[in-house]
Amino acid sequence: MCASTNSVLCRSCGKKLEENPQFLPKHRSPCPNCGSTTRIFNVEIHGTITLREKLSLKHKRPGFKKPIYEEVSGDDLHRKTGLWSKLRRVIDRQNNHYKEEVVNSETGKVLRSVDHPLTDHTGRGSAKEVGRKGEDDA
Ligand SMILES: [Zn+2]
Repeated sequence: MCASTNSVLCRSCGKKLEENPQFLPKHRSPCPNCGSTTRIFNVEIHGTITLREKLSLKHKRPGFKKPIYEEVSGDDLHRKTGLWSKLRRVIDRQNNHYKEEVVNSETGKVLRSVDHPLTDHTGRGSAKEVGRKGEDDA
């Protein structure tokens, strides 16, 4: 076997960190970008990296019930087909913008592309469903 841990990423923000992967959590320094001490270890096996990760971001502001900005990006498993795809979904409440793109990880083919005012999206009654995992069928 020639697997080796060769890089360390921040689990919260994805920043690559210069850190010894052997470090225990209590010995880690907080991520300089976001302060998190959770990590992803990128293990390389025979030169092929397969890293399935999904990151989400919510930007909250005092006085606003809902986050003013939400973004989800990363790998998404389509349950029906069992295929992995790349998902990116942005909800920008300040600019009334909803965007979603799903791309087949293997072929790069765009499976779904949505880009319209958020108010149109809310009108369909599905805005509250945003944040559910793995169900991207309209
Ligand atoms: Zn971080």
